[in-house]
Amino acid sequence: MTKAKHQYRGRFAPSPSGKLHFGSLVAAMGSYLQAKSQQGQWLVRIEDIDQTRTIPGSADLILSTLDKLGFEWDKEVLYQSNRTEHYQYYLQQLKEKGLIYACDCSRSKLRLETSSPVYSGHCRKKTISASSPRALRCLTTTETVIFNDKIQGTYSVDIERECGDFIVKRRDGFFAYQLAVVVDDAEQGISEVIRGADLLSSTPQQIYLQQQLGFTTSAYGHLPIAMYDNGRKLSKSHQDLSLEQQSTVEIMTKALTFLNQSPPQDLALAPLHEFWQWALQHWDIDSIKASQQASFNI
Ligand code: GLU
Ligand code: ZN
Repeated sequence: MTKAKHQYRGRFAPSPSGKLHFGSLVAAMGSYLQAKSQQGQWLVRIEDIDQTRTIPGSADLILSTLDKLGFEWDKEVLYQSNRTEHYQYYLQQLKEKGLIYACDCSRSKLRLETSSPVYSGHCRKKTISASSPRALRCLTTTETVIFNDKIQGTYSVDIERECGDFIVKRRDGFFAYQLAVVVDDAEQGISEVIRGADLLSSTPQQIYLQQQLGFTTSAYGHLPIAMYDNGRKLSKSHQDLSLEQQSTVEIMTKALTFLNQSPPQDLALAPLHEFWQWALQHWDIDSIKASQQASFNI
């Protein structure tokens, strides 16, 4: 085995806000097959940083479902809720670089002043007392962030104009997803991130943070999002699909079909280990089309 193969490390990073549903199964399967087909490692991280959205018991439920479906992860599962001192450390690094400022704009104020989702930088020059409720934002610059997504193609983003100064610590005291995910991906040595395209718009901020913190930039591949035929996104909070309703391999075969891997129809009837054998042998990320029909009838 070559050294390069050893270095591949992917991950699946569910938020424990409900059960594993079809959309998250697709992300788990895509990242898993991409890692394991290259003899890489695959890690699971529970993104329970936003404790206001965490549903007790759902992390265990997600892990036991993954286990039942035959996913095998390397090392211990990382829980973001245990890692605040790491996020604090890197927040301090950003502060020392002069990249952090406080913002006391309320959501309603931001909505009233502008229809744009991009923050205007309103509080950049303000001094806000530490006692008032405030979020911390990361200053962006006119730099262009360029990345070549394995599935979605090349993106070139003017981070200041198109993303704006973004929140790294929320006014309720929780660290923001953008900072936590960048610190964790770096500290876990993740070489490539395969996840749903709903997170494509977060990627420029994450690469920008990697650059500011001196981390290696990860490679990215954003999978198409599974929708119901009516265009509604599947989500954990809706709990639309419970995996228990269908046979394990049947639903897994549907996920593989969604990933455009063209499994034979009778794979749905195969034992679990044969399903994985076929999926690993035939995995080809280049078959996934960015323009893939979003709607998928499950
Ligand atoms: N925790 C995020 C979610 O469940 C995924 C984060 C990521 O893959 O970067 O939507
Ligand atoms: Zn502000």
